[in-house]
Amino acid sequence: MAFEGLSSRLQNVFGKLRGKGKVSEDDVNEAMREVRLALLEADVNFKVVKDFIAKVKERAVGLEVMKSFTPGMVVVDIVNKELTELMGGTQSKLAKANKPPTVILMAGLQGAGKTTSTAKLAKLLLKDKHKPLMIAGDIYRPAAIKQLQVLGEQIGVPVFTLGDQTSPVEIARQGLQLAKENGHDYVIIDTAGRLHIDEALMAELRQIHEATKPDEVLLVVDAMTGQEAVNVAQSFHSQLELTGVILTKLDGDTRGGAALSVKAVTGCPIKFAATGEKIEPLEPFHPERMASRILG
Ligand code: GDP
Repeated sequence: MAFEGLSSRLQNVFGKLRGKGKVSEDDVNEAMREVRLALLEADVNFKVVKDFIAKVKERAVGLEVMKSFTPGMVVVDIVNKELTELMGGTQSKLAKANKPPTVILMAGLQGAGKTTSTAKLAKLLLKDKHKPLMIAGDIYRPAAIKQLQVLGEQIGVPVFTLGDQTSPVEIARQGLQLAKENGHDYVIIDTAGRLHIDEALMAELRQIHEATKPDEVLLVVDAMTGQEAVNVAQSFHSQLELTGVILTKLDGDTRGGAALSVKAVTGCPIKFAATGEKIEPLEPFHPERMASRILG
C-alpha cells in the first residue's frame, strides 16, 4: 500500500508521544527529529522537509504546547494541519470554462498513465452528467490511438482521431471544432509523452496549447517515481504553465515523496489521484483526507 512505511513510522513516533503522561520539550524535539527522518526516507524533497519541520515547530511554540494538558495530541494535530497545507490545503477543483467546452490538455512522460487517466477523467465527467469528448493526440506511441478508442468504447465516450499521419496540433484543432459543433462541454486532449523531457515534446505541447487555449493543463505524474516526479513537474511547469497535477499509481507502494512535495515545489495543486489499471472515475485529491490517512 502507498505510504505504508511513512505512515507506520509517524504513527510510531506519535504513539510514543501520546503514551506519555508528561511530555518534555526534549520529547517533542526528539519526535520532530524522527518525523524529519521519516519524511526524508519517504523521499520527500529535503527543502520541503526543512520548511515543514520549521513550520511545525513555530506553531508548536505559538500554541505553547507544553502548557496544554495533552501536548502529544496537540503536536499530532499540528503535524496533521501542516501535512494538509503541504498538499494544498483544500481540494482544488477542475476548472470550468465560462463558455463551454472546457478544454483539458493532458501532459506527461510516456508510461506515466496519461491515456489511462484521460479515460478515467472522462468517466468522472460522464458520472457528473457531462458530455466529454476525448481527442487522440498521441500519434507517436504505437497503439496509443487504439488504446484510447478501446477505452472510449468501454466507457461510452467518443474519441476524435485523424490517425497518426496528421499533426497533433491539427488533430487538436479539428477535434475542438467538432466538440463545439456537437455540443460537448468538456474536451480532453491526450498528448504524446517521451521517455524523458525533450525540446520537441515541449514545442509540440506549446503549439497545441496555443491552438486550443486550454482551461486546464494537467500534468500526469507517476507517484511511484518519487523525487523524479517532482523534477518532471518542475521542468514541465517551467515550459508550459501547468494548472494542476494528476498523481497516478497511488495504489502501488509509493513512499509518498511525490504527493508530499509536488505542490510545495511547483505551486501546482494535485487535483486528482489515480489508482489501478481499471477505468474507474478519477478521484479528486483531498489533502486533508490524505494527511489523515498518512497519520492513521
Ligand atoms: P501513457 O504512456 O502516459 O499514456 O501511459 P498509459 O496510460 O498507457 O499507462 C501506462 C501503464 O500504467 C499501463 O499499463 C496502465 O495500465 C498503467 N497505469 C496507469 N495508471 C495507473 C494507476 O493509477 N495505477 C496502476 N497500478 N497502473 C496504472
